[in-house]
Amino acid sequence: MDKIVSLCKRRGFVFPGSEIYGGLSNSYDYGPLGVELKNNIKKVWWERFVHRRDDMVGIDAAIIMNPKVWEASGHVKEFYDSLMQCKKCNSIFRDDEIPGFIVRHDKYDAGKVKDLTCPECKQKGDFTSPTLFSLMFETNLGPVKDRKSNVYLRPETAQAMFVDFKQILDTNPRLKIPFGIAQIGKAFRNEVTPGNFIFRTREFEMMEIEYFIREKEWKKWFDYWLDEMKGWLRDDLGISDENLEFVEIPEGERAHYSKRTIDIEYQYPFGQKELYGLAYRTDFDLKAHFKELPYRDPETGEEFWPHVVEPTWGVDRSVLVVLLESYTEEKDRVVLRLPPKLAPYKAAVFPLLANKPELVKLARKIYEDLRKDFTVAWDDRGNIGKRYYSQDEIATPWCITVDFDSLKDKTVTMRDRDTTKQKRVKISNLAKTISEALVL
Ligand SMILES: [Zn+2]
Repeated sequence: MDKIVSLCKRRGFVFPGSEIYGGLSNSYDYGPLGVELKNNIKKVWWERFVHRRDDMVGIDAAIIMNPKVWEASGHVKEFYDSLMQCKKCNSIFRDDEIPGFIVRHDKYDAGKVKDLTCPECKQKGDFTSPTLFSLMFETNLGPVKDRKSNVYLRPETAQAMFVDFKQILDTNPRLKIPFGIAQIGKAFRNEVTPGNFIFRTREFEMMEIEYFIREKEWKKWFDYWLDEMKGWLRDDLGISDENLEFVEIPEGERAHYSKRTIDIEYQYPFGQKELYGLAYRTDFDLKAHFKELPYRDPETGEEFWPHVVEPTWGVDRSVLVVLLESYTEEKDRVVLRLPPKLAPYKAAVFPLLANKPELVKLARKIYEDLRKDFTVAWDDRGNIGKRYYSQDEIATPWCITVDFDSLKDKTVTMRDRDTTKQKRVKISNLAKTISEALVL
């Protein structure tokens, strides 16, 4: 983990936010390479789940919604963490961080609390009784700060897909159940204990689908979306199976609206923890927001309450796991073996010698041409070995070097990141070669 954090900072993937002012508790900024990686993940996701499907539409909703949304959804009443403080060392914990105890699920029992051990000072049995703490960020709309102007930063993206349900149907008459609404956006939770780099931050981004179905088909669609999530992890992020666990959340530990939930967990260096989630939310949300049936089948005229299966992907956690999976140390280099379509740069172009204008001119021409189709890096500093090393560390799949032969035979050296093998490629074939390799 330390190596990933240090590489991210050194090469400008992710660094602490507001650092010149001493930072801000667990806030991070994505730098020039990080934003490319993150955008690529979102782009591949959107292509897979929205553009290539007939049964999906996307939205991009406002972060601040009418506060009535959060009353109807149950968040104002239910979205709390319960906190306990160790009286010996004054450390504050979310109840589920204290082994053997979850207030929300076990009733608070002073007898039971006596047997608990403080995770910090390792002393026994001296905790305060739990206090509730709202996870929603509040702010005010307009100049007057009072209860009437009180609004929330959304703690999840899902509610907009429910609240906009009718408008989406009305403007897309071809949509019929089953169909989904997808969204990528930021959500905010005032977590008590954020941590582990970008694993848990108070401001985070998620990719989410609300998939509307008939009630009797929920099991089928739940399994379907579980398979889709596995497919994404395997095909698009290249995550190995042995680092994943699919954890069935038992009744009593699930969110109040869910009849079945599976947490997709990952073996992080700091332990097995959540990566994505899949929940069957029943018709809870639509019924919470609409008084009248919001759905009528366009062909049969049948009216019913749609049920919902909800797959959720964390964007920042996706970034973290692809970095963890692809970081490799070899004898003489560090390689980030990102799937090429996620790599910030698809290629880097070098003139063999920076002080030979004829080489620089041709290399520059190749660089400008490739940039029309791909993100491409330029490097003319130091020797070729150093440039390779530098590109391997930021996952650039192909390095292209213009040498003296290039001037004569119109070919260049193309070097593969993973194998380090080099081959001569015609300059006129470069774009095609890269495109083909990206599809694989
Ligand atoms: Zn303690």
